Amino acid sequence: MGLQDIQDRIAKAANKANRSEDEITLIAVSKVQPNDRVAAILDQGHRVFGENKVQEAAGKWPDFRQDYGGIDLHLIGPLQTNKARQAMQLAQSIHTLDRPKLAQTIARLAQELGACPDLFIQINTGEEDQKAGIAPQDADAFIAQARALDLPVKGLMCIPPVDEEPSLHFALLAKIAARNDLKGLSMGMSSDFESAIALGATHVRVGSAIFGDRVYE
Ligand SMILES: *Cc1c(COP(=O)(O)O)cnc(C)c1O
Repeated sequence: MGLQDIQDRIAKAANKANRSEDEITLIAVSKVQPNDRVAAILDQGHRVFGENKVQEAAGKWPDFRQDYGGIDLHLIGPLQTNKARQAMQLAQSIHTLDRPKLAQTIARLAQELGACPDLFIQINTGEEDQKAGIAPQDADAFIAQARALDLPVKGLMCIPPVDEEPSLHFALLAKIAARNDLKGLSMGMSSDFESAIALGATHVRVGSAIFGDRVYE
């Protein structure tokens, strides 16, 4: 456990897959973690973090940004349309573009703000009712739609169903990305990032394995 251990495991998994570890970005998912744990990871030199709520991110990252340079913040949770502006001003990447309305809102705000974070389209690979994301069979059309809006789509993201073999979902995501010429693959969490790397992940989102268990109050 801890940052160094995860970095070592990423390097090993990359090596095993004949990939360079430089192709893989470790997003340290800091949601719900106490600030002292986040500061400890910043002190070790890590700068890439993930948050799943705009409100929570807005509460801590402006201060960390002041104290530490070069923060690269990724929003990895569901995004309400009315929080899109704030999200775009806070984060360098948004992993959860998951519906046409949000795509239109982000496109409009990008014009207005003159900038747009890197975007990943969330694919609901397990076709779960309770989960956000574009259904696999609608992915190609939605990717085309987002591109037609001039959005900077860098890749795809998925969260596999908890009770299924994640590799099947990672492989499906990789297949959809490849046929749409998308390089980015945001997939893999604490329990499965090594198999995600084997299947081409470019961004792994690791929380508890770095910081320890999340304590919800
Ligand atoms: C919380 C979260 C993670 C990190 O989960 P861990 O199991 O703690 O690594 C990754 N991705 C998303 C979308 C999350 O919400």
